[in-house]
Amino acid sequence: MARYRGSVCRICRRAGQKLFLKGQRCYGPKCAFERRSNPPGQVGRSRRRPRPTDYGTQLREKQKVRSIYGVFEKQFYRYVRQAERQAGVSGENLLQLLERRLDNVVFRASFASSRAQARQLVNHRHFEVNDRPVNIASYLVKPGDVVKVRNNSKEILPIQQAIEAGAAGGSLSWLEVDDQNRSVNIVGLPVRSEIDVDVNDQVVMEFYSR
Ligand code: SF4
Repeated sequence: MARYRGSVCRICRRAGQKLFLKGQRCYGPKCAFERRSNPPGQVGRSRRRPRPTDYGTQLREKQKVRSIYGVFEKQFYRYVRQAERQAGVSGENLLQLLERRLDNVVFRASFASSRAQARQLVNHRHFEVNDRPVNIASYLVKPGDVVKVRNNSKEILPIQQAIEAGAAGGSLSWLEVDDQNRSVNIVGLPVRSEIDVDVNDQVVMEFYSR
């Protein structure tokens, strides 16, 4: 599958806010957005952001969510349709689906310093779900699942460093993390109040209902 290979910091500058795509670097003085918050490119140098239209606002929110979770348009559209079919508030359903992705769970459990790194660790078969190796980053976990670092990977440097740094911050009610055994029990479903992404999920859904 095609991958975005450009500068991820450009995405933050384009969005006009920090999206925390690079792990620990995002919290330090080297953050590109801290140094230059104007939009990227020639026009961006003028430091003026034109007032967005309704469409522009919806598009920007949608692109922000996609960038934060590292999902391409086609797959994202599938999540949107799935969220609409579920009972409840569709915007919250969408974020709940994205949070249940295996790469996100690995990041939330602080086994990786960013979702991008979590995705790579999953792709390289460092994790198992319910005692079976899984290398699909989009795998959706459900309550009762147990995600573990595989035995041979427990001491690898990126995982150790992420655990020491407490990469994802605080604990979440739907995850029971065991740092010592490098495992996480899924004990519930993500709730919107604990999803700390600064996006308007309903505006994202409006983009797809035009
Ligand atoms: Fe965004 Fe992180 Fe780059 Fe800062 S360092 S611009 S928060 S990706």
